[in-house]
Parts: sequence; C-alpha cells; structure tokens
Amino acid sequence: MQIDLEFYSPVQQIHEKLFDEQGLKLFIKRDDLIDPIISGNKWRKLKYVLRDALSQNKTHLVTFGGAYSNHLLATAAAAAKFGFKATGIVRGEVVNNDTLFLCRLYGMNLLFTDRESYRDKPALFTQYFGNDADAYFIDEGGASVLGTQGVSELIGELAETYDHIFSACGTGTTAAGIINGISDAKLSTYFHGVPVLKNGEFLRTDIDAYLNNPAEYDLHTDYHFGGYAKTNEALISFIKNFTSSTGILVDPVYTGKMLYAIYDLAGKNHFKPGDKILAVHTGGIWGLLGMKEKF
Ligand SMILES: *Cc1c(COP(=O)(O)O)cnc(C)c1O
Repeated sequence: MQIDLEFYSPVQQIHEKLFDEQGLKLFIKRDDLIDPIISGNKWRKLKYVLRDALSQNKTHLVTFGGAYSNHLLATAAAAAKFGFKATGIVRGEVVNNDTLFLCRLYGMNLLFTDRESYRDKPALFTQYFGNDADAYFIDEGGASVLGTQGVSELIGELAETYDHIFSACGTGTTAAGIINGISDAKLSTYFHGVPVLKNGEFLRTDIDAYLNNPAEYDLHTDYHFGGYAKTNEALISFIKNFTSSTGILVDPVYTGKMLYAIYDLAGKNHFKPGDKILAVHTGGIWGLLGMKEKF
C-alpha cells in the first residue's frame, strides 16, 4: 500500500475592491480541493503519520477529537481509503451529527469519553488499546512533527513568492509547518497565524517547539469571535458575502475567521501597497454542517 494522493491545489487570485484600492493582491491556495473529505491541512498532516504507521506494521489508527472534528473525519476517510481500521475517541457525551455520521459511514468505530478523561489522551489509548499491538496513536488534530513535515511541502508547490502567508491556527501544527517550509526555502515571506481560540498567544510556545529555526511571525489574536467555534453576525455576513462573490466555501470555525482577519487588516492599512498576500484555504468546509442554524 502506498500512502499518497494525487491532488490539485491551485492558487487563485481573489478580486475585491478593497485590495485593488490599496494596491494589494490577495491569493488563495485551494487546499480545500485536495480531497472532498481528507481536505486541506488534514491530508498534509496525516500523510507522513500514515506512512509511519505503515512502516511499523500498524493497521489500526486511534485518534481523538471533538464531535465536529475535521481531523476525525479526515482520519476516518483516509483509514478507509488506505486500508486501516480506525477508532475515534470523541470528547463528551454520546451524540450524533453530520460529521460523526460520515465517520461511521467510513467505518470508524467511535468511543465517547467524558471531558475529564479526554484530557489525558495517552492514558485513554493505553486503557483501551494497550494490548492491541496493531494500534497506532495519532494525537488530536494530527499534531506532530510528522504533521509539520507534511505541511511544509505546501511551500514547494508555490510558483511565485508572496510577502505574507496567512493560515488559521488550531493546534499550531499547520503554522509551524508553513514557517518551516518558508525557512527551508530561504524565502523572506512573513507568516501570519490567526488563532481560532481565545487567548491565542499561548500557541506561540507550541509553534516554536516545532520550528527547525527560530523565526519571527505574527499571531493575530483578536479574530477568535469569542472562542473556538463561536461566531457573530459580522462573521456570518462576511462568510455569506465571500462565498457568494467568489464561489469558494469557507467555514465559520477556521477559514472564515482567517479571511475576515485579512480583510480587516487590509482595511486598517496593515499592509504596504504592492504586497502580495496568500491565504491558505485549509479545507474543513464540512464544518459548515454543524453551523447551519447560525446562517
Ligand atoms: C484543523 C484545522 C485547522 C487548524 O490546524 P492546526 O494545524 O491544528 O493549527 C485550520 N483550518 C482547518 C480548516 C482545519 O480543519
């Protein structure tokens, strides 16, 4: 079995008056097109993790997530595609929703656990699968050094250079991968992370721990809209406008917040005329299914 996907992730320009007026150019890297389900950064983060599992002859992927986790769903789909058995350990009481429905359809076995036990994932893994020699631990969100290696390959796919690259941040693995990719390629591109959780400055420690070389980058911590998966009318109306004027779906948990930040910063003259900005569409559009009532 070979762990690979042939995929298409073009860069496309977003034409929008706000950017034209300031002489800025906004582009978007369409990692959402990598796969309908194993989309965006989740495929990049899983690629070397799955290869590592295979090299250790592990046939059972065990991972963790909330009930709307894009990572759980991507792992379920990847497991089915590449012939692994999969278990998802889900935080919180037993529920069903569109994400978990798809996980089950892909054959993932779901175990629900209380929020207290969920904090110690290695302990849960040992409790359930300590005696299963085939079981392979994948951390929540695919957070790992191997994950950053997969993400860093994104930079090598770019045909042009950009002054700024933006990505939404959850665990910070994707941010670290992009920053490593930039420094490996010796580019002067500046990285901007948009934490989707409150008090996102804490991510700096997690990101720095993954960096091959120390780097300067920005975390724009004012675009969490109240916290993880929280929204407000301004964000929802931004997403409606963005999607209806570009034809690109974005979700309110990750990519909507990142793009909102770029538009807001552009409006506040944060960039220099002539700057080229690349937004990474990290996928995750199925997250919309858990947010239907907000629209
Ligand atoms: C999981 C996810 C992220 C966060 O990635 P991290 O590597 O955990 O920071 C960003 N965008 C989307 C769409 C995601 O699903």
